Amino acid sequence: MAIERTLSILKPDAVKNNITGKINSYIESSGLKIIAQKMMLLTKKQAELFYEIHKDRSFFGELVEFMTSGPVIVQVLVGKNAVSKYRQIMGATDPKQAEKGTIRGDFADDISENRVHGSDSLENARKEIDFFFAEHELV
Ligand code: ATP
Ligand code: MG
Repeated sequence: MAIERTLSILKPDAVKNNITGKINSYIESSGLKIIAQKMMLLTKKQAELFYEIHKDRSFFGELVEFMTSGPVIVQVLVGKNAVSKYRQIMGATDPKQAEKGTIRGDFADDISENRVHGSDSLENARKEIDFFFAEHELV
């Protein structure tokens, strides 16, 4: 099993609802380690670039507006198969489809406010980590 890094974002709805500690406890209980973490307010440009892959989707404008609506916490997680493991504990994109015991299954109701982001491949994890962090910030 490979030790991987993945990028996590606790989205504005997680910060607003004061559940970032609860989400971190799901992450830590899974065995993943948080090796970097910072709170920031994304600019429109950053959110558009980060979700560029979805730029032609009908929900893109709404997604960018939501992601810039308040502070987020960006994190780097490390562990065995971190990319797929975090996707598992996040649960399905649509919280209505997400299993109980997952972050989205337990804390979210709506696909447009689904509490967390996690990289979907090792290649994207590398790009997304570089997008937010310098190597010296990963401890
Ligand atoms: P994320 O990239 O945020 O981790 P994901 O990988 O599970 O989520 P994506 O397909 O990458 O899902 O979609 C990115 C985000 O866009 C979703 O988290 C969700 O908030 C929003 N989104 C996706 N599909 C829809 C939709 N049909 N309607 C509204 N918002 C959507
Ligand atoms: Mg995605």
